[in-house]
Amino acid sequence: AAKATGRDNLVVFDPEDPQSSDDSEDIAAILKIALEHGLVSLVYQPIRNVQTGETDAVEALMRLRMLDGTPVSPAIFIPIAERTGSIIELGRWAIRTVCRDLLATNLVQVASVNVSPIELQMPGFAKYVAATLAEFNVTGARLAFEITEGMELEIDQDVVRCISDLRKLGAQVWLDDFGTGFAGLSWLRLIEFDTIKIDRSFLHDCSTERGKRMLLDIISLLRNRGVRILIEGVETIEHQRLMQQYGINQIQGYYIGRPAPAAQLEADNVLPFSIARNLDSKRQFRN
Ligand code: C2E
Ligand code: MG
Ligand code: MG
Ligand code: MG
Repeated sequence: AAKATGRDNLVVFDPEDPQSSDDSEDIAAILKIALEHGLVSLVYQPIRNVQTGETDAVEALMRLRMLDGTPVSPAIFIPIAERTGSIIELGRWAIRTVCRDLLATNLVQVASVNVSPIELQMPGFAKYVAATLAEFNVTGARLAFEITEGMELEIDQDVVRCISDLRKLGAQVWLDDFGTGFAGLSWLRLIEFDTIKIDRSFLHDCSTERGKRMLLDIISLLRNRGVRILIEGVETIEHQRLMQQYGINQIQGYYIGRPAPAAQLEADNVLPFSIARNLDSKRQFRN
């Protein structure tokens, strides 16, 4: 009974709805076998540094297909994976895949992975990250974790401890969808984030003066805290120009690049390191 509403990361769960409850049971079952059947994959969306114009990071986004090939939106399957616990294994797979395919091969400098609060609450998360970084000889600073503000997450001791363990590994911690939840400001008080990703709704509201003033207020609040500011949802050249003018550090959105498999981004020369990187790592990546 998971239903995506208009905004794609807002999900309403309705256990009374019989039809979607069947869907969600199917999806829960598929999630259990998804890794062994190759039904999950990662796509990567470029993040552009406004000052240099370069893609200096990518965000990894998970994709799921049913056995007949039908794609399922993350807005649907991520909450189901969280509820059933599948997210633990899927999340670890995502971290390992990013380290192996993108970072160890030097395809990109920095890659971010979305993590659910329940992954962070699980004992051993930071240990797994440390082992994976070591396995692929990747420095922690090249891996970022995106934590969503909008979700029902309370600031819980385990999460704060896990985040501090991740920071000790040198890993980056980013706050995702800033401005969509009630917790954002208290999170800022408790946790030091490397980057704040302002939710795209604030950019899309910039068609009005009131919307522009709101975004400018948020930017000045964040700038005073010395955190790097990224905005999502850059869909047009006008959006890009405005964000340049507002002094945003990094931009992400369909205008900059759509999420795509690594091989496609590489073929399109979206990833700056794809040219410079050495042949050995290329061979490794193709395997
Ligand atoms: P998110 O982390 O905020 O990711 C950004 C979402 O916005 C992605 O949707 C992306 O495809 C979409 N997007 C990118 N540029 C634009 C744009 O210019 N305009 C618009 N309208 N949308 C844009 P996607 O891939 O469907 O993912 C939805 C959410 O699912 C993500 O939101 C994230 O919270 C969650 N998610 C995705 N992959 C993972 C994962 O591996 N683990 C966890 N825990 N959550 C994930
Ligand atoms: Mg994200
Ligand atoms: Mg998110
Ligand atoms: Mg986001």
